[in-house]
Amino acid sequence: MAALSTRDRMQIGVEEPPGLTVIQQRIILPSATETIPIPSTNPFVSTNTSEPEPLAPAANPLLRAYQRGGINPKTRAFRKRFFPEVSDRDWNDWRWQARHRVRKLSQFAEMLHLSNNERLGIEKGGSMLPVGVTPYYMSLLDADDPDQPLRKTVVPRVDEFLRTTGEDDDPLGEDGHSPVPGLVHRYPDRVLLLALDFCSTYCRYCTRSRVVGSGELMASERRLEAAFDYLARTPQVRDVLISGGDPLALAEDKLEWILTRLRSIPHIEFIRIGTKMPAVLPQRVTPQLVRMLRKFHPLWMSLHFLHPDECTPEAAKATARLADAGIPLGSQTVLLKGVNDDVETMRSLMHRMLLMRVRPYYLYQCDPISGSAHFRTSVEKGLEIIEGLRGHTTGYAVPTYVIDAPGGGGKIPLQPNYRIGREGEDVVLRNFEGKQFRYRDPVVSE
Ligand code: SF4
Repeated sequence: MAALSTRDRMQIGVEEPPGLTVIQQRIILPSATETIPIPSTNPFVSTNTSEPEPLAPAANPLLRAYQRGGINPKTRAFRKRFFPEVSDRDWNDWRWQARHRVRKLSQFAEMLHLSNNERLGIEKGGSMLPVGVTPYYMSLLDADDPDQPLRKTVVPRVDEFLRTTGEDDDPLGEDGHSPVPGLVHRYPDRVLLLALDFCSTYCRYCTRSRVVGSGELMASERRLEAAFDYLARTPQVRDVLISGGDPLALAEDKLEWILTRLRSIPHIEFIRIGTKMPAVLPQRVTPQLVRMLRKFHPLWMSLHFLHPDECTPEAAKATARLADAGIPLGSQTVLLKGVNDDVETMRSLMHRMLLMRVRPYYLYQCDPISGSAHFRTSVEKGLEIIEGLRGHTTGYAVPTYVIDAPGGGGKIPLQPNYRIGREGEDVVLRNFEGKQFRYRDPVVSE
């Protein structure tokens, strides 16, 4: 095997499968004390270095819990039971969390009362995705209830091996829109850059199950340079979404190198990072990380939350750090059967995200990936949820419901039908309460 360069090794993605070697861990994971200076010449970065004013104490109990921070009670109890010897320093170290992910049947069986469905699913080893859950996210799972929403999304089930009509390993046809490995160019002015294929926790409904965790998409300099070359000679691209895998699983200097290379391309304006870290490993959002990210403003982030139980004080601390660094935060939520497919759960999730300074952005109909039948619910259910939100709560709390068209057609927005029709010069509308209204809209001849 050819020797890896130091930069090639500076990624966690080389771990899957089967596991990081000790030497790789040392090289991949940078020193916790490393700090990166912010250039004073970047007008997007505030030069105010004084401590922010303390928050005005909130009377709202949830907001108060977010303001206070600390450890949520479930995590505290889990830690006491399964990791009593682990220091606060280790538990709050994202590298420790990444190294101690729960991956084996024996570990799951010790921490959860497994159903036969789960036991068989873990024994079979996952259909396409590897298995892995951070100790922090494990602490949020219900030990006794296999149908608890969060547990359903990360513990494999034998249902993953059932293939039904219309499913595909690559339902969005990404491989057919990939001019170089790990770059998807489907829309005219924007691209998806798959930085690596590693995630700290694997979501069983993942659209990219075919590549995530396979060890094929490493953050190697050679592969990424080919992507940067393509971008440099494709001037219509102005927007890059860095995803994966989870880009925040990269060591800071590796991610900084990627951002620096993208910012060196004159026509690239808009850079986003897609990540689930604040939900599954909020400890990853360190002061060092946000100091580095701030250098690349304007930088946006798409976070991935799917249930109110993920919105813990730890997650709120992570999103507060990102928001304080001036990073606009949007969320992408996948609609999943038995997880979040009811109005009450979705409303609670959206409200919590607003308290965490995250703007609900997209609600995705679950893509028909192979083995996803047990996760998919009907389009009518998605429309019912949007109808239950629109007008009934804050407009900012209503995401855009979309289907990513199978085969690569892109995102298609769906709305309940509020336009009943036209009568002469009136458009007839209905509001969120079902009442009818007319809007005078004379037909203007061109
Ligand atoms: S974090 Fe994202 S890329 Fe990783 S397994 Fe979950 S959905 Fe897939």
